[in-house]
Amino acid sequence: MAQIEVGILGATGMVGQQFIALLAKHPWFKVTWLGASQRSEGKTYRDAAAWRLPTPAPDDVSTLVVEQATPGNAPKIMFSGLDSSVAGEIEGAFAQAGHLVISNSKNYRLDTTVPLMIPEINAEHLKLLSLQEAARGWKGRIVTNPNCSVVALSMALAPLRPFGLRTALVTTMQAISGAGYPGVASWDILGNVVPFIDGEEEKFQPETQKILGRFGDKAVEPHPVIVSATATRVPVHDGHTISASVTLEEKVAAAAIVDAFNCFRGRPQELKLPSAPPRPVVYLTERNRPQPALDVNRDGGMTVTVGRLRPCPIFDYKFVALGHNTIRGAAGAAILNAELMREEGLL
Ligand code: NAP
Repeated sequence: MAQIEVGILGATGMVGQQFIALLAKHPWFKVTWLGASQRSEGKTYRDAAAWRLPTPAPDDVSTLVVEQATPGNAPKIMFSGLDSSVAGEIEGAFAQAGHLVISNSKNYRLDTTVPLMIPEINAEHLKLLSLQEAARGWKGRIVTNPNCSVVALSMALAPLRPFGLRTALVTTMQAISGAGYPGVASWDILGNVVPFIDGEEEKFQPETQKILGRFGDKAVEPHPVIVSATATRVPVHDGHTISASVTLEEKVAAAAIVDAFNCFRGRPQELKLPSAPPRPVVYLTERNRPQPALDVNRDGGMTVTVGRLRPCPIFDYKFVALGHNTIRGAAGAAILNAELMREEGLL
């Protein structure tokens, strides 16, 4: 089968590097085009990127020359790991020029005709794409991924929807790779916890409500869950850990909740997509798990692990969830979106 050519915007960044690593042996997609800022333009990828992953950059990509991040000779399918300060304009220009952009940036996530995808939860939200052309006038399309912590949280909350999920109070412990490279200064993060991430907490409620919402006639009807978040940065390489307390309308036994986590499946598992983990949410029974150092790379970083479910004296239950921020929360998630779109005939 001929591979589909894809390009990467923001190819030199943390998320861009994960795209390159994850696509190196992908059965359907082949990276043939890279774009980044003027700092990188005209250099080979090897010279432009400060490669930070433990597996070497693939040779065929290392020798590609980084292009200006403008539409022209780029392939139709574009993955984007662009900084949000420029993503709005650049991704919009690519969509206008007829490209399908699968974005990790915040800029279009809450646009009413742009799907905010976690394919296990809301594959039906791709129906929004048919409304995008009329609303935006683009020849192409934009599909987005949620914030990296919101991905892990929503994966843990989606199995609780049948119990009448009402509220979630969450505190995140977010890895330094979530701040990009070079990210947070070592002086600020070593031996420390920073109890503030600019612009992060505001994303939790609207994004979670949209993700968990149902596709109505011509729009996504947001889920009513109320989310209150405190976001912190901790000295961990990869993996955002979340402590969550939830209220549920139904009185439900802990065993039924564990069962709901472990039995949760979606369209990617049904279609056996190449990047789909066999079980997207896995409950760990050890009393000191999940931990980023032990659990973040489970199933190639695509599984969200959950543990420590116990009654909460203020809410109903509390638990801990963990997700790989640059894989499940970014590049791996975007690739899963593209795989789903291919199988649904949308590429
Ligand atoms: P990063 O390491 O700072 O990388 C940013 C990328 O954007 C680089 O490739 C950079 O190219 C490029 N860029 C910056 N200014 C540009 C310009 N004017 N024109 C073209 N390209 C430009 O950031 P990141 O962590 O990979 O995050 C990328 C995006 O994904 C952000 O929107 C972020 O919010 C989102 N996200 C990140 C994570 C995560 O865990 N890191 C998770 C989910 C979503 P140069 O190298 O040439 O400067």
